[in-house]
Amino acid sequence: MFVSAIIAAGGRGLRLGGAVPKQLLAVQGKPLLERSVDLFLGHPLVDEIVVALPAEFVDNPPPYLIGTRKRVRIVAGGARRQDSVARAFAAVDRAADIIVIHDAARPFASEALVERTIRAASESGAALAAMAARDTVKLAARKVNASAPSMVETTIPREDVYLAQTPQAFRHEVLREALALSERDVDATDEAMLAERAGYPVQLVEGESSNIKVTVPDDLPMADAIAREAGVEQPVVRVGTGYDLHRLVAGRPLVLGGVTIPFELGALGHSDADVVCHAATDAILGAAALGDIGRHFPDTDPQWKDASSLRLLAHAARLVRRHGYDILNVDVTVILERPKIKGFIDRMREEVARAVGIHDEAVSIKGKTNEGVDAVGRGEAVAAHAVAALATVRRPESHVRS
Ligand code: MG
Repeated sequence: MFVSAIIAAGGRGLRLGGAVPKQLLAVQGKPLLERSVDLFLGHPLVDEIVVALPAEFVDNPPPYLIGTRKRVRIVAGGARRQDSVARAFAAVDRAADIIVIHDAARPFASEALVERTIRAASESGAALAAMAARDTVKLAARKVNASAPSMVETTIPREDVYLAQTPQAFRHEVLREALALSERDVDATDEAMLAERAGYPVQLVEGESSNIKVTVPDDLPMADAIAREAGVEQPVVRVGTGYDLHRLVAGRPLVLGGVTIPFELGALGHSDADVVCHAATDAILGAAALGDIGRHFPDTDPQWKDASSLRLLAHAARLVRRHGYDILNVDVTVILERPKIKGFIDRMREEVARAVGIHDEAVSIKGKTNEGVDAVGRGEAVAAHAVAALATVRRPESHVRS
C-alpha cells in the first residue's frame, strides 16, 4: 500500500491576526506546520508528503521542508482549502493507493489516529477522524433577519452528531472524483463532504480530543499545554571518529590544532598537514554521515594548498550545522614522540574551538607518545585520533529505519 499525505497549509490564517500565517507560528518553540510534517515524516505507513503552502513561500520554503528523509513536494495553495488540496493532489505520486489529508493547524494528531484513518479508508474508500458530540446539540432556526435573536428549531439527538477533524483519508479514485466535484463549484469545508456528495460511503473513525485545530488566539494556550504535555522531544546524539597521520620531514612547519610548534621537523602534506584539525574534521563529518575530508577538500584542489586546516574544520562545522546538527564536543588525542606539546595545548583548544564554533571547554586535546614503537614511536610521523558528538532535536522515530 503506497500512502501519500497531503498537508493543507495554504491558508493565510488571518484569523489569528498576525503577520505570519498561523500554520507557521511556533508552539513551545516549534512551528505548527513543522509538527504536522514531522507526524507524517515519522509515520511508518506514509511514503511521501505534499505540502500546499501560501504561494509566496513556495520558492523559499521553511528549512524543515528541505533535505527530509522522505520525499516532500511543495505546491502553491489555492483560494479555497479544497483548491489547495486539489493542487496538492495533482502532485501526488500516481501509484498512491491511499491519500491522507491533514490540516497543518492540527499538529497534535497521534500516529495511531493517522493509522486508523488510513486503514478505514483502505476498507471503506473514505474515512475521517471525528469526535462524538458531548454537549446537547441544538439546531438553530433560520433567522427572519440578521438582528433577530437566534431561536432553537429543534434538538438533534446527540448520539448522531460527530464533529469532523482531520486526518481524512481516501482511496485514490474516490478522492479524484470528490475533487472533480470541487471543480464544479461545490464549496466544501472538508474533503469528506465532497466524497459524500460524490455518493461514496465515508467511515467515521474515533478522533482525539487533543487533536485541536489552532485557528484563533484563544486556541494558543491550549495548544501550548498539549505541546508541553507531549513532552520535550529527545535530542538525538550522534558520534563520529576521525584519524590522521602525516610524515615528519625537514623544511616543513609543525602545525597542530592551528598552532605552529617550534621543531626541526614538520608534517608533510598538501595543506598545512595539521593532524589535529584533520582528525577533528573527519570526526565531525563522520558523526553526520557526510563523507570525509578527502571528499570535501580534495588534495587536487589548489585552494587548499598550504591552507590552514582550521578553515577546513570551520567549513565542516558549518556544513553539519546546515544539516540541522549542533556540535556538542570534540576530543582529540595526538600521538607524537617529540617535541612535548603540553605547553601548547590550551592555545590549540582555543583555535580548534573557535574554528568549530563551540566553547573551549567543549574541546579536549591530549598528547601521547608511542613509547618508541613503530614509525610514530621512531619520530617519523605524527598521528591523531578524534571523536566528535553532534546533537539534533527530533522525534526519536525519525532516526529509525521503517
Ligand atoms: Mg591529513
